[in-house]
Amino acid sequence: VLEVSHVFAGYGPLGADRLPHKLVLKDVGCRLEKGCNLGVIGESGSGKSTLARAIAGLLPPAKGKVLLNGELLEPASAQRSKEDLRRLQIVFQLADTALNPARSIGDILGRPLTFYHGLKGAARQARIAELLEMVRLPRTMMHRLPAELSGGQKQRVNLARALAANPEVILCDEITSALDTVVAAAVIDLLKELQRELDLSYVFISHDLSTVQAICDEVMVMNGGETVETLRARDLPDGARHPYSRLLFDSIP
Ligand code: ATP
Ligand code: MG
Repeated sequence: VLEVSHVFAGYGPLGADRLPHKLVLKDVGCRLEKGCNLGVIGESGSGKSTLARAIAGLLPPAKGKVLLNGELLEPASAQRSKEDLRRLQIVFQLADTALNPARSIGDILGRPLTFYHGLKGAARQARIAELLEMVRLPRTMMHRLPAELSGGQKQRVNLARALAANPEVILCDEITSALDTVVAAAVIDLLKELQRELDLSYVFISHDLSTVQAICDEVMVMNGGETVETLRARDLPDGARHPYSRLLFDSIP
C-alpha cells in the first residue's frame, strides 16, 4: 500500500512559511492498494510530474508524508535505504529517460540486479534474459545499444529495468506519450499483463483520457496542484461530479 498524505512540494527556496517559493503541490493525497493502480490526469502544468518526483523523493516534499506499507519513506531519495529505493521505481517519458547510450541493454538491466539483489555471473545473465522475456523482447537484445532500439522497445527496456528491482510500486510518468498510438497500446497491454502476472501496483500519469481509461481502474484528477476528485475509470467521463473534471474531459480527446 502506497499512501501519500498532505504533500506540499514545489521549486525554489523555502519562504518564512517553510514552503517553496513556487509552490506546486498543495495538500495532495492519494492511496494505492497492493496490486491496484491509480491514474493521474490533469492538464499540462497541473503538477502530475511534480507529484511523481515528490513520491520518488527526487523533489523532497516540504510538508506531508509518503508511506509504503505503513512505513514512512525519507522525503529525499538520497536519504532512503537501498531497500526503500528498491520498493519504489519510476519510469519517465522517453525524452527524459536516461538509458546510458554507451551501455548495452544487458548492462543496463544487470546493474540494478547487482545493486539491489547482489546477482552476478550466470545468475545475473539468466535474470536479464528473464526480464527481456517479461517485457516481450528477444533475449538477443541484451547485446544491443539503446540507439539501436525503437521508442517502444526502449520503453520496454525502461520497464524491465524498473522490474529488475522487484518493486512494490512503479510510478509511470507519461511513459506512452512519446510513442505512436499502436506502440503505446502495446506498452499499455504489457503493463496490464504485468499487473496480473506480478501483482504489481502502479501509478499511471497521463494527460490522455483514453490511455488512462484503458489502463486504470481508478483515476485522480489534478488541477493547479490540487486533487479535484478521484473516480472509477469505468465511470469516465460522464460520471465526473466536479465541474472542473467535466470541463477537462470535454476538452481532451
Ligand atoms: P505536463 O503534462 O506538461 O507534463 P505536469 O502536470 O507534469 O505537466 P509539472 O511538470 O508537475 O506539470 O509542473 C507543475 C508546475 O511546476 C508548472 O507550473 C511548472 O512550470 C512548474 N515546474 C516544473 N518543474 C519546475 C522546475 N524545475 N523549476 C521551477 N518550476 C517548475
Ligand atoms: Mg509532466
